[in-house]
Amino acid sequence: MSTHVSGDESRPFVVRGGGKWAVRHGTRRHDRGAGERRFDLTLSENPFPPLPSVIEALNCALAHANRYPEFLPERLPRMIADRVGVDADQVVVGAGATGVALQIMQTVAGPGRAMVFAAPTFDGYPLMAAMAGLESIAVPLDSSGRQDLWGMARAIGERTALVAVCRPHNPTGTVAAASELKAFLFGVPRHIPVILDEAYAEFLSVEELLDPLELIARYPNLLVLRTFSKAYGLAGLRIGYAFGHRDLIRRVRRLQVPFGMPETATAAVAASYAATSELSERVLRITIERELLRTSLRRNGIRIPRSRGNFLYLPGPGMVETLARAGIAAKGYPDGSARIAVGDAAAGRAVERALCGPTLVRSDRARIEESGAWSLTAPAAYPSVPPDDCSVDHP
Ligand code: PMP
Repeated sequence: MSTHVSGDESRPFVVRGGGKWAVRHGTRRHDRGAGERRFDLTLSENPFPPLPSVIEALNCALAHANRYPEFLPERLPRMIADRVGVDADQVVVGAGATGVALQIMQTVAGPGRAMVFAAPTFDGYPLMAAMAGLESIAVPLDSSGRQDLWGMARAIGERTALVAVCRPHNPTGTVAAASELKAFLFGVPRHIPVILDEAYAEFLSVEELLDPLELIARYPNLLVLRTFSKAYGLAGLRIGYAFGHRDLIRRVRRLQVPFGMPETATAAVAASYAATSELSERVLRITIERELLRTSLRRNGIRIPRSRGNFLYLPGPGMVETLARAGIAAKGYPDGSARIAVGDAAAGRAVERALCGPTLVRSDRARIEESGAWSLTAPAAYPSVPPDDCSVDHP
């Protein structure tokens, strides 16, 4: 397990020679002719395009794009608060979970102050800590890819201004046990804010879900961070939020950028909340694909931690290079390990072929696809290829 963060969340995957990235149901792909296909799995994106109802709501909002949005967002936090079950003044919204996290960091930053998180973790934490002037205290994961909560507790000191715990964790997808997390929170001094990063919470099973309301009632220093980028598939719209005790939220809201939250965000969230069952079905499909891929790779000797995100962590060395040779771009770590987004069956098959080669006799996926069970979760209503005018030229 790597103990370093690469510090590079950018796509290392450059397509040469020009061409079109087809935006379609599935992963970002590039067809290079002669049957050669490339997959970009570097970012933990949702492979499904927005639902038709969400696109319709966005089009309506765009028709009023000559108007400014609210000076400071009110409708969106209220909508989210109603859904979560808190008061509107307990929610702060921003440009993705990234934007909200930066706002939190800027709120607590000051000379000589530090932030504690695991390593590796979401690249945004070390990057934004540096932007906010916070020193990064990075605590290595344990040997099974879990955040070392006891090590993180020991790393908290006089200068600690902020702590971040991810559940599920990025990049390994592991989930801290509820009892361990609660014991950890109990031990953090109440004047130090803790971000509980739940970017992938919608992929947790019912038994793994925490009661966030109970937690924020008990820990006034806790901020639960969530996003519409992952399960909701709206990464391009940049919508995230945090909720917690109103005093702490008030402090974070002071840094809200005026006119900073577009009406499209409110429209997309409203339409998404109205389409919960369709979105849950997509989450289920991504989850099934993740489990099929993990099972088949593990059968071929690759020790992949159990993931509860829309990605898998493939321990190195040489993983990134092997995938790259097969035209698959992955997020890389210094020891050669890779993280790949999951959910697109064609990309999953390409990963199996790249990593298992001729030893892959017959994957579980093939068996399930042949049995027809897959179609039970795959409604025909999803267009597999949107109209051509959705294609974008890529240098
Ligand atoms: N937290 C974690 C753990 C993540 O993995 C990510 C995205 N990779 C984010 C936060 C940021 O998500 P966004 O800014 O797209 O909402």
